[in-house]
Amino acid sequence: MKIVNDSTCSWINDLTPRVNIKSLQSNEDAEWLIIGAGYTGLSASRKLGQLYPNQKIILVDAQLAGEGASSRNSGYLVDTTLNDGFTSNKDLDNYKKKTDIYDLGINVIKKFINEYQVDCDLNECGKYFASSKKEDEKILRNFSNTLKKLDFEHNLLSSNELSKRLGTNFYKVALHTKGGILLHPGKLVRAMIDVLPKNVYLYENSSLLSWNKTKDKISCKFKNGRIISKKIIFATNGFLKSLGIKSNYNFPITLTASMTRPLTEDEFKSIGQPKEWGVLPVRPMGATIRMTKDRRILIRNTAEIHNPFKMSKFDLQKRSINQRVGIKKRFPQLPDDIIRSSWSGVVSRTRNSSQIFEKIDNNVFAAGCYNGSGIGVGTLFGEQIAIKASEENTDEIETIEARNKPTWLPPQPFLNLGVKTRLIYERLRARSEI
Ligand SMILES: Cc1cc2nc3c(=O)[nH]c(=O)nc-3n(C[C@H](O)[C@H](O)[C@H](O)COP(=O)(O)OP(=O)(O)OC[C@H]3O[C@@H](n4cnc5c(N)ncnc54)[C@H](O)[C@@H]3O)c2cc1C
Repeated sequence: MKIVNDSTCSWINDLTPRVNIKSLQSNEDAEWLIIGAGYTGLSASRKLGQLYPNQKIILVDAQLAGEGASSRNSGYLVDTTLNDGFTSNKDLDNYKKKTDIYDLGINVIKKFINEYQVDCDLNECGKYFASSKKEDEKILRNFSNTLKKLDFEHNLLSSNELSKRLGTNFYKVALHTKGGILLHPGKLVRAMIDVLPKNVYLYENSSLLSWNKTKDKISCKFKNGRIISKKIIFATNGFLKSLGIKSNYNFPITLTASMTRPLTEDEFKSIGQPKEWGVLPVRPMGATIRMTKDRRILIRNTAEIHNPFKMSKFDLQKRSINQRVGIKKRFPQLPDDIIRSSWSGVVSRTRNSSQIFEKIDNNVFAAGCYNGSGIGVGTLFGEQIAIKASEENTDEIETIEARNKPTWLPPQPFLNLGVKTRLIYERLRARSEI
């Protein structure tokens, strides 16, 4: 099945269109095949290209490389995710394992940026977990206790300070973590495409239709050709399930976001000329909202079970209206018609929010399921799954493998029913924050 994306994502529109795009038109053989050219697949390919300069590595994507969720996200390189307190040391230990992985993710991005001199508007300005409900202070205080135990620099802020920093009176309480980073996701993933080693052959607009494995060969079928490889890495994240990879452990969730045009000088003055910032919601289904360095506002306030292959114009428009309301609630002085683009993207979830990183059969590997932390973790997992597939070990692999493993999911229709019910409940709890 073909992935049909809208073509309106501002992050992608900021980039120069790529030329010399090749799709698979013949039968090919390779030592390595990577399916999916987002952060994970590009990082796996880059690493394999460096490790095996004399081997042929093929990287394939169903759409244009990097133009799935890797360009369509909110651009937060996260140091922490919200947790509202623990009842046991075991939980604290699990949370620490999670943040150890985030830390490695931040380091791998910084190393990449440094090594290839990438300009992706990286700003180490921290990030806020904010709420318009004073009563959510309790959640943030519990979270603060956890962060203190793990030595994360952070502080709690009240509405006065927040309105100065964010330019809106909407938020009543927030916790700022110093280690959060904001960046331009489209520029980052484009750089990963640009620096692919010479022995990596990239085929785009070429969807893997089916695959099978015999003793020492993997045969993959595409519309206009077939690829036979010795080893394969699945890096399709939200589409792992559709390819039958770990399908009892992950499911896709579709998100939508909108971005405004840059605010005019007067509009920017009317909100107090804040510096670039990024807010994540305290209640899970609340809005992620960001002021970019060039004065655009990004908002993401939906997460749902939807056909991961396509969102119609009509459906997207409905969600965009919701996003206009979200902006208006926070910035009533801004005009109604400033949204420049709206888009959808697909992420992958597991029941216990743990990631997939494993050998699923001889010569078959998969990495994915990062929820809202795929920029750093996807880049890390891509590099490390390539090393694991080479039968090598690293400290990073040990840290990754120390995490909790994804837990088993109930079959359909119970899965969708359960997820939908949970999402409705979370949406109700967060209705003031959307
Ligand atoms: C709106 C939104 C906001 C987000 N915000 C953040 C954020 O602020 N911070 C953060 O860290 N993460 C965020 N995420 C999540 C992040 O974008 C993902 O975790 C990350 O992109 C995962 O990278 P990936 O390479 O594993 O997968 P993807 O980027 O999804 O790439 C997978 C690729 O596989 C390809 N593919 C799928 N099926 C096939 C097939 N059959 N054949 C060939 N190719 C195929 C797809 O076309 C796609 O390009 C957000 C996501 C969305 C949608």
